[in-house]
Amino acid sequence: MFGSVKSREVRLARRPHGEPVPEDFELAEVELPEPAEGQVLVRNRFMSVDPYMRGRMNDVRSYVPPFALGEAMAGGAVGELVSGDDAGTLVVHQFGWREHALVDADRVRGASVPDGVPASALLGALGMPGLTAWVGVTDIAPVAEGETVFVSAAAGAVGSVAGQIAKARGCRVIGSAGSPEKVAYVRDELGFDAAFSYRDDVRAALREAAPDGIDVYFDNVGGPQLEAAIGRLNLHGRIALCGAVSQYNAVEPAPGPRNLALLVGKRARMVGKRARMRGFIISDHGDRAPDFRAEVEALIAEGRLKLAETIVDGGIEAAPGAFTDMLAGRHLGKVVVAL
Ligand code: NDP
Repeated sequence: MFGSVKSREVRLARRPHGEPVPEDFELAEVELPEPAEGQVLVRNRFMSVDPYMRGRMNDVRSYVPPFALGEAMAGGAVGELVSGDDAGTLVVHQFGWREHALVDADRVRGASVPDGVPASALLGALGMPGLTAWVGVTDIAPVAEGETVFVSAAAGAVGSVAGQIAKARGCRVIGSAGSPEKVAYVRDELGFDAAFSYRDDVRAALREAAPDGIDVYFDNVGGPQLEAAIGRLNLHGRIALCGAVSQYNAVEPAPGPRNLALLVGKRARMVGKRARMRGFIISDHGDRAPDFRAEVEALIAEGRLKLAETIVDGGIEAAPGAFTDMLAGRHLGKVVVAL
């Protein structure tokens, strides 16, 4: 039909110790044969870099298996079918970190975006991070009109969407981020009611931003911000444990929040928060995708949800740097690599 195709891919060369460095990755070229019966060839247009991939670089048991040494890494990607009658069709799949993917046809899913929305959004606000945000504020720690909601990593892929949905549902929304530029972005561009840098005194900043306490905390980071949020939680407060990115590069296990007893209310002066803290993994909630898409697409169309996104150009060789920059907070919003 069209012969073999040369494709480059990023492999895991060695397991990082702490923050990943360029030597942990290897760029390799492969020659892909023509698709066999039941296979499709996809030319990837965008690939996602996500915090959970850091966990997959370690050789530990988790909810997804570790990446294998010497093999291509994997993750969300958007591409176009190259082969067959459906050539040109937009698809999403889990074979990122490579320019082309030769895969079984049932491992790719046809995808579409509303008019005016870039295809990269399928990896961000309209994709896995958006669904995570929506499920978090809808099912895990439901937010209600008039409540105060605190979101960490608020300028990031998940946090930016979680905060904007909560705002659209009539909540007072507070966000935290790691730089003055991101704090300004969250407040002035994304419309959060208040924002602060977690590099300052988090407890004091949260007290000032939420004088009447918080009803919901959407936790993307763990660590000191989780502890501060527990301390500030109101009666019947809810915490969605989404991630703990402040600890993903840690080489030693991090100590937990020291004030968990406050969730019950054992301290003499406390009324007892009777609070709930619940972790979740988004792959358990795929059945919520239709409701998520309906609400978030409508918010985007009404101009009430902005796509916070950084597209990193430079092709596949830019992917490892984009990944480590994302983990270190050097980019804004959802980080996607254009291939
Ligand atoms: P982001 O786009 O938010 O990127 C990561 C961000 O983490 C950086 O931008 C940086 O923001 C922040 N960060 C890095 N180090 C620290 C630190 N020490 N303390 C506080 N913040 C830090 O990533 P995502 O939106 O994709 O993911 C956010 C969280 O959600 C992650 O924990 C991720 O693992 C989790 N997640 C969980 C899912 C689930 O199923 N439970 C699904 C998807 C994501 P800044 O510049 O502000 O420091």
